[in-house]
Amino acid sequence: MNWSSLSSDEIEQVLVSIGSQVSRARALELDALEELDRRQVFMGDGCATMSEWVAGRLDLGSDTARRLVLTMRRTVERPDLRSALVDGVSFDRVEAVSRIVGDVGMLDHLDISGVRRHGVNRTEVTDGDEAGRLRGRYLVMQPSLDESWWTLTGGLDGVAGAVIDNALSELSDRLPNLPDGHRPATGWRRATALYELASGGETPQATVTVFVNADQAAPSDGRAGVRLEAGPRVGAVALEAILCNSITEVTVNTKDGVPMRYGRTSRTIPPVLRRAILATTDGYCAIDGCDSRYRIEIHHKTPWAHGGTTDPENLIALCWFHHHIVIHERGFELFNHPDTGRTRLRPTFRSNRDRPRKHTSPTRTRSKQPARASPSTTPI
Ligand SMILES: [Zn+2]
Ligand SMILES: [Zn+2]
Repeated sequence: MNWSSLSSDEIEQVLVSIGSQVSRARALELDALEELDRRQVFMGDGCATMSEWVAGRLDLGSDTARRLVLTMRRTVERPDLRSALVDGVSFDRVEAVSRIVGDVGMLDHLDISGVRRHGVNRTEVTDGDEAGRLRGRYLVMQPSLDESWWTLTGGLDGVAGAVIDNALSELSDRLPNLPDGHRPATGWRRATALYELASGGETPQATVTVFVNADQAAPSDGRAGVRLEAGPRVGAVALEAILCNSITEVTVNTKDGVPMRYGRTSRTIPPVLRRAILATTDGYCAIDGCDSRYRIEIHHKTPWAHGGTTDPENLIALCWFHHHIVIHERGFELFNHPDTGRTRLRPTFRSNRDRPRKHTSPTRTRSKQPARASPSTTPI
């Protein structure tokens, strides 16, 4: 091709046409991968997952291989998306649309990141997914042999991550420059902020803004349409905890501007009422046997999102651990002991049900389903 003889418009047309050819090739690639996946060739070749096999055979990075395999599996039951590729729709658009449950068309009015955001709002966070993440929260601090250096690794659910991220950003922004005017790197400042926090530094008010898309949140009971300021989506359990508590600002969007139950503004507890509730337990946690006075919060016994009011009989003072972790995250419920009337906690249906599901190992999948495992149990 003699590029220098072509106008820019002509080169653009060539590019677009190449893009369509790439898409058609991708459609063929997905069909071929689907058949090989059905035959479970990766197991025969000693690979743990189909993605691993694809990465090796096609010489791809693991991310690219994973995207290919996931998109192939998601489009097995979506011939419309495979035909879209044949018609020249880009792989990235098909991939993004394939993540969205239900037929939404190709969303041509949105660019690819718009399609991804649309998908984030539409995808439901199941109670099981959410509980798994809450229980999977962990932090490891690994010292070197002589303890002169520590490495931190861990994982957090979306809300805890956002709260900590906001607090560290706020504190690290407040750190002054060094006397010579030098501003240390962000990573250094955030690590120092964490150190300051642990040394008893002033804890910044951790606020997180939550966006609720009412059209999606209401019919799914908060499992879809809820996301944090920074983007991560949260599920029904996190939403209920968020609404019970004032660390968050909630913004509700509806197409027609109709306020929905998540959008009521009366959830904030007036200071007078807060003091009255605290006075009923002398400022201690109301749970029988808990003598904590640390960060006492006011909990709505009937969740605010389920119509519970901000009236004294629906409110109770609880320590942070009993409030956030035991009730909202683990799903325990309050009850009054029949003999003493003291406030205690008992597990509920939700707290039993939401144990994280055991990961199905590839070996077991193979022995149980030699012909073809369903997409949800096959390792990616
Ligand atoms: Zn609460
Ligand atoms: Zn307590």
